[in-house]
Amino acid sequence: EKQQGVALVIGVTGIVGNCLAEILPLSDTPRGPWKVYGVARRPKPDWSPDSPVEYIQCDVLDRELTLEKISPLKDVTHLFWVVWVSRETEEQNCEDNGRMLSNVLDALLPNAENLQHICLQTGAKHYLGPFDAAARNRCFQPHEAPYHEELPRLPVPNFYYTLEDIVFEAAKKKDGLTWSIHRPAAIIGFSPWSLMNVLGTLCVYAAICKHEGLPFKYPGNTISWEQFMDASDAELIAEQEIWAATDPYAKNQAFNCSNGDVFKWKRLWRIIAEKFDLEPLPREGEGFSLAEAMKDKGPVWDAIVGENKLYPTKIEEVGNWWFADFVLNVPWEPVFSMNKSKEYGFFGFRNTETSVGQWIDKIRASNIVP
Ligand code: NAD
Repeated sequence: EKQQGVALVIGVTGIVGNCLAEILPLSDTPRGPWKVYGVARRPKPDWSPDSPVEYIQCDVLDRELTLEKISPLKDVTHLFWVVWVSRETEEQNCEDNGRMLSNVLDALLPNAENLQHICLQTGAKHYLGPFDAAARNRCFQPHEAPYHEELPRLPVPNFYYTLEDIVFEAAKKKDGLTWSIHRPAAIIGFSPWSLMNVLGTLCVYAAICKHEGLPFKYPGNTISWEQFMDASDAELIAEQEIWAATDPYAKNQAFNCSNGDVFKWKRLWRIIAEKFDLEPLPREGEGFSLAEAMKDKGPVWDAIVGENKLYPTKIEEVGNWWFADFVLNVPWEPVFSMNKSKEYGFFGFRNTETSVGQWIDKIRASNIVP
């Protein structure tokens, strides 16, 4: 497989989409340098002005627009699905996320003759069940960690299952079309436009604490503070997706994707505090909700952005408080098994503590936080 790859990345400005956009065009990437089409809803951001990615602004929920913009991309060989939309209920998540994928596949399958592979990114909720509280109360037991890929589906609606089924159907329709599924834990990376960027969110919290002279208190529970957790470096996920897209042994398989080590938030908290010149306080008491504590901080963030001439963002974009509350208050030890990925030949890993420090530097260098 020496032929140059042509990627279509849906969600190119997201937390993993950004990394695919950086790695695919490099000449030492397998089948690289790739030609890359990148799709997202908003106008092209200016945080990577030299990017060779051909940027396409398109809301893939809009079927007509998607057919118009994606059908002409006849040279696409690989589809990377790193996008999602969030709705009130899991039924609606299934409906809208499924519709987006079907729209894109309906544009690609009849037109992109050389389409060879679909990389579908889902995540830990495959094993835990959806965020949706109603679904949670429908009495099912999340799987016990360490999660491995062959665990059966949970008996509740889950948009990850909907997306998988759409991919399986597409592969039946086109000879030689293969797929891979990638399941990360909480993703550590850069994107001010991500719906779930836990590290970016904590950097915004740290900047607000610094600006207002507030103590940098840990909002989460003792489980996340004291126990082993794992996380997924966004660049590592992109590497695993590119590996699966180009390695014949990785076809038609699902793979977990975490850093391959464990960490404790009490150590990460110290790293974040030091980067923002704050005192790393020990965890205390009951914990609290960041969503609640930060709900009136919009004007404070606007002032921080203005005073420091930051990339213009609204607090709602960069402070994904609900997600940080979720990640830091898990009621279990959510660790992934990376055995299958290694057994199939992907040996990538990250040192989570190092990775967190580097991503904070990148978030700051991109002028998202002071
Ligand atoms: P993200 O939220 O970081 O980025 C999504 C991207 O898609 C953005 O570029 C956004 O502009 C674009 N987009 C959104 N709606 C669009 C639309 N209708 N049309 C075109 N573009 C659109 O994405 P992510 O976090 O990488 O999420 C991808 C998958 O990974 C999801 O299934 C998510 O649940 C899963 N996941 C995420 C995390 C995490 O910590 N972020 C952890 C585990 C699993």
